[in-house]
Amino acid sequence: MNNLLIIGAGGVGNVVVKKCARARDIFSKITLASRTLSKCEKIASEADSPVEIAQVDADDSAQVESLIRKTGADLVINVALPYQDLSIMDGCLAAGAHYLDTANYEPPDEARFCYKWQWDYFDRFKDAGLMALLGCGFDPGVTNIFCAWALKHHFDEIHYIDIVDCNAGDHGHPFATNFNPEINIREVSAKGRYYEDGKWKETDPLAVHRTFDFPEVGPKEMYLMYHEEMESLARHIPGIKRMRFWMTFSENYLTHLRVLENVGMTRIDPVLFEGRQIIPLQFLKALLPEPSSLAAGYKGKTCIGCIIEGVKDNKRKNVFIYNVCDHQDAFADTGGQAISYTTGVPTMIGAKLMATGVWQGKGVFNVEQLNPDPFMENLNELGLPWQVVFPDTHLVD
Ligand code: NDP
Repeated sequence: MNNLLIIGAGGVGNVVVKKCARARDIFSKITLASRTLSKCEKIASEADSPVEIAQVDADDSAQVESLIRKTGADLVINVALPYQDLSIMDGCLAAGAHYLDTANYEPPDEARFCYKWQWDYFDRFKDAGLMALLGCGFDPGVTNIFCAWALKHHFDEIHYIDIVDCNAGDHGHPFATNFNPEINIREVSAKGRYYEDGKWKETDPLAVHRTFDFPEVGPKEMYLMYHEEMESLARHIPGIKRMRFWMTFSENYLTHLRVLENVGMTRIDPVLFEGRQIIPLQFLKALLPEPSSLAAGYKGKTCIGCIIEGVKDNKRKNVFIYNVCDHQDAFADTGGQAISYTTGVPTMIGAKLMATGVWQGKGVFNVEQLNPDPFMENLNELGLPWQVVFPDTHLVD
């Protein structure tokens, strides 16, 4: 699995390519493909070793299949958009390549991401002798691994998980999103949801909030949201009683978002404009800065981690595992900002573990189903060192 095809030349794609291009002992051939070829050219020209480029519309599985055959790729990394997950998985099955992504499938006309569509591919990947690894960014991705590692080394049973995600960086724009604007705004404006006693409970969008004192960042207001890793963790962490996800937003971001929602700019249904149908959120995306363009002047840090409570040797115990990433350090390493970096580095690590056979499987897997130890070691070595604090950080009140 050393011939890599990376699809998506955005903020995350930039980091994945640059990190993989420094690991030529593992990846003998790397091709970057995306809808806009000029974006591939720019990233390839900045990489530390030769990267081939190609144009592809990954909504079309036949194009994906033919590109896999042409490049001879045996592992495809999908860092395009969640809308392309199924067409890229279909292309992989048709051409016989393994698959890895960072975000679960979401239909373009409905803001409802969930794993069911991709989990349904299990038998097809298994029968083809192929592995599909889902959600290998930071959240989902590293947060799942933190839980799996905690379960392996610190707990007999995990009962409560609070995932806390803070970006305390300043990019200098009045309003911008740190990853694809369309996907980001769909996620943030959706209803909140958390898992308790075997059921999913809904809250109004961003209605529940708390202050949390983030390491190296300080106290920030964070909001309860639904996030996809909870769906797979609910399936894979036995005995879990409650799981919540919290993300920080500045007052400025929330005010802009409220105005955009109120005037209808976040709608995803078609609207007739000057004789043609447009989707307001797609139009808004065209106006907002590209996530990759935020990197140069971005200052400040992110802190993302898992506060976990459970039982070890019949005693209650708390653990807080987290990473702090500095936007300027991310930029110095890859020319990307910290959100792209914290996503792209774990993606590269997942690909590395698959390519070297450390992580193996036939079928469709979430990262917490695999051995967390080599992944945790690689995080420390490849730019995302983590810390463990226990027992003094408690669950969110
Ligand atoms: P960007 O918008 O910066 O990049 C997306 C790229 O995908 C663009 O280059 C775009 O091309 C390309 N693309 C879109 N549609 C197609 C298509 N049909 N065929 C081929 N290429 C296409 O987004 P990011 O890099 O910020 O995010 C990439 C992915 O990472 C997203 O799925 C996002 O949800 C995920 N993510 C995951 C995180 C995690 O922690 N797990 C965190 C952050 C992001 P073009 O420029 O032509 O539009």
